[in-house]
Amino acid sequence: MYQSADNSSPTATPVAAPHCAWGFAVLVGLAAVVLTAGLVTRFAPRADRPIALVLLAGLFIVGDLLRVQMPHGADQVMLTMGGASLVVGMVLGRPVDVVIAASVAALVVAVVDRAWPFEVVFHVARTGWSTSVGVLLFFAMHPDRRQNAPTLWAAIIACGEAAVVLAMTTAVMSRLRTHAIAIRATLRRLVVTVVATTTSAAIGVQAISLGRRSPWLLPLVIVPVALVLMAFRTYAAERRSWLRHEFIHQATAALHQDRNLDDGMEAVLGQIRGALQAQFAQVVLFSANGTLGVLAHDDATKSRSLGEPSTEEIEAAWRLAEHLPGPAIVGVSPASRELLGVLGVRQGIAVPLRHDGRVAGLLLVANRSGDAPSFRRDERAIVTLVAQQIEVAIERGWLQQSLRQLVELERRLAHQAHHDGLTGLANRRRFNDRLEELLPSGREPHRGALLMIDLDGFKQVNDGHGHDAGDQLLNIIGRRLGVQVRTGDLVARIGGDEFALVLAGVDDISTAARRAERVIEAIEQPAQIRDYEIKVSASVGIALVDGDSLSPSELLRNADLALYHAKALGKGRFALYDPAMRVEAEARRVLVRELEVAIAHRQFEVFYQPIHDIVSGQLLGAEALIRWQHPERGRLDPAHFIPVAEQTGLIAPIGELMFDIAVTTAAGWVNGLAPDQAFTLNVNLSARQLRDIRLVDTIRLSLARAGLDPSRLVIEITESAIIEDIEHTREIVAQLNRLGVLVALDDFGTGYSSLSHVRSFPLHHLKIDKSFVASVATSATDAAVVGSIVHLASALGVVAVAEGIETPEQLAELRRRGCRVGQGYLMSEPLDWRAFGELLRSHRTSNWLISGPGAAA
Ligand code: C2E
Ligand code: MG
Ligand code: MG
Repeated sequence: MYQSADNSSPTATPVAAPHCAWGFAVLVGLAAVVLTAGLVTRFAPRADRPIALVLLAGLFIVGDLLRVQMPHGADQVMLTMGGASLVVGMVLGRPVDVVIAASVAALVVAVVDRAWPFEVVFHVARTGWSTSVGVLLFFAMHPDRRQNAPTLWAAIIACGEAAVVLAMTTAVMSRLRTHAIAIRATLRRLVVTVVATTTSAAIGVQAISLGRRSPWLLPLVIVPVALVLMAFRTYAAERRSWLRHEFIHQATAALHQDRNLDDGMEAVLGQIRGALQAQFAQVVLFSANGTLGVLAHDDATKSRSLGEPSTEEIEAAWRLAEHLPGPAIVGVSPASRELLGVLGVRQGIAVPLRHDGRVAGLLLVANRSGDAPSFRRDERAIVTLVAQQIEVAIERGWLQQSLRQLVELERRLAHQAHHDGLTGLANRRRFNDRLEELLPSGREPHRGALLMIDLDGFKQVNDGHGHDAGDQLLNIIGRRLGVQVRTGDLVARIGGDEFALVLAGVDDISTAARRAERVIEAIEQPAQIRDYEIKVSASVGIALVDGDSLSPSELLRNADLALYHAKALGKGRFALYDPAMRVEAEARRVLVRELEVAIAHRQFEVFYQPIHDIVSGQLLGAEALIRWQHPERGRLDPAHFIPVAEQTGLIAPIGELMFDIAVTTAAGWVNGLAPDQAFTLNVNLSARQLRDIRLVDTIRLSLARAGLDPSRLVIEITESAIIEDIEHTREIVAQLNRLGVLVALDDFGTGYSSLSHVRSFPLHHLKIDKSFVASVATSATDAAVVGSIVHLASALGVVAVAEGIETPEQLAELRRRGCRVGQGYLMSEPLDWRAFGELLRSHRTSNWLISGPGAAA
């Protein structure tokens, strides 16, 4: 858009005032209030029967409305008969009434002119302020109550003073809003204002003396008023006409000489904005299909050519241009108000530009700045003339070059709108369009299949090698997928590491499966990025268009469900959508909703499974295990809800809740223990909880709140959680160690971790998974595995803990293999807090070998 404006951000909110301007306006208003309060206490009215406030306000309103707008350089000055009202007020009214009446009149005039809120506030504030200064000066100069010549002279001088204050205050504000100082223009403006004010003040003085001597001659005051106004008006008209000629001459010259459209147009817009005292002037050009318009803007310092304005702006400009029959003063009709709002226009002159019988653009000059009120018809004529010049420029093809750029821009934008910037593949929007084509609403869908592809382990690449490497990998994969498409297919990147393949014409499972396999194979090929060979795999979900009344979003959801299942199967797998998946997904949704309620109502309980020294039988501590007290289904084990809580992130609030309960309960127990009695509390953390950056802080706070010593806490993490993000987990474990908390590796032997991981983590316990324990007494191999885990543990200096001990035989074998610590149903099932508290308290019974069922072993 070509635009010329006098404030710093014309397109956004052309008339928005900066904070400092608001601050200044409020300061001026406060100063006015303080001075006026001073007037009340210091001075009594001059006349014996002072003029009524209402009458005075009326006088000010009339005086302010008797005005002439005077062009003054690139500026406008408003000359009014306000000086006369002020003099009459000072001599005949109460001092405070004068300030109030002048301020009320300022408010009325601002409202009549439909000024914006900021301007209303500032106009009223500066009027109150300058009037109160004038009144104060007047009373200070001449404090007695006589209405003699010195009094009247004092009134004229005070009026001039008020005019100076008004002009200076306006100059300061203009500096604050435009960041520009024009000292000469300010001085000229000051002189004109003072001369005009004292002239009208002199008329006021004449009216007072005439009224005192011969009141019936008072109407004759109209004569000098009319004469002065006529003189002002004639001068203003002359000056305006001269400026208009000058302006049109310059505009024509600029447009005709400067074959470079951008420069010529910019110059013209700058001039028209100055001449009409508008806050901005802009030209919007529309390309042939009417959707894209653009060009440059100039806010006195910057210019923007071939910019990319918001589509909302273009749309609004286009609709406005279409809607207007011809040149118009806009801002009055409510119909176009919404469009004008988008363009930031309060009031302005709009002229549609035509070319070849179609609307080719819009010239818009808007928002009066400074003192001048709304735009007038004669100004509309000027803008129309300029618009005609621009149309001639369009006619002669001078715009061709810019239009060519416009078309190029349009092409680029269209491409950008449909393609992914990184891989050049189709983006989500293009992908959605393709799905719509595949499944036209109301008609038979075309045959086809949708493959949703998600990379496995892409996050690790990003974390381990940096985002640049991640981007390169996506690029390579994008190219490999690109090779896979056949005519009619579409491959798109629809998210960070998510791709989609739309296969046209495929309607059988085996073909779709073959294509999915090929996709997985292609992605699994190692990629050479810098010095590294990086390998990721992919999971694929397949959904077929099977003739049911499918919508694109349904097809997408089916493929997503299948992808979810493929992911659950492990890396590098594909799954085909099956209606049962939808049932399952629905059940999951219900569960999530119920879990949210459960969190809000704290429906969780903690059970404690004793951990014993399996040689001496001594109770060493307990593992805290969560249970959900479901209102309908009763007590639920973690397997029913922890996986879903993990996927949805609900594990965070659940974990915190559970942790608080367990730690507080344990702290209570520890308080009642004999000083030498051992007790540690084991708490499980899932992978998702480990990724929470607040984790260590939450633990620290929770321990401090409960008053539990950190060395009494053992955090259990599983191998698979470590694998998800080794470096991060290592850091968390180190922080937990620094805090004094112990760490156990849970379910050891089931994960993927290599021994090197175990060695590199500062651990305290290694928990042998119950699957080994279950067969330790029956399988020689498993017994050997358990034996070597125990050896490994002792070599690393950590304690081996056996989980899931159910039979005396298992216990005996574990002891034989050197394992000293364990838990399991043989010793005790998980107990509620009351039962475990009892167990712990009875020092005697807490030795399970003496009293428990294991005594037989
Ligand atoms: P885990 O940490 O390996 O906990 C041991 C599981 O084995 C518990 O199951 C326990 O009840 C069970 N168990 C104990 N002794 C025996 C036995 O002799 N035989 C057999 N077959 N099982 C035994 P539970 O309570 O159902 O917990 C299952 C898993 O849920 C836990 O495995 C743990 O990974 C997870 N979990 C439990 N509570 C929490 C929690 O508060 N937060 C998190 N993130 N996970 C939890
Ligand atoms: Mg555990
Ligand atoms: Mg375990």
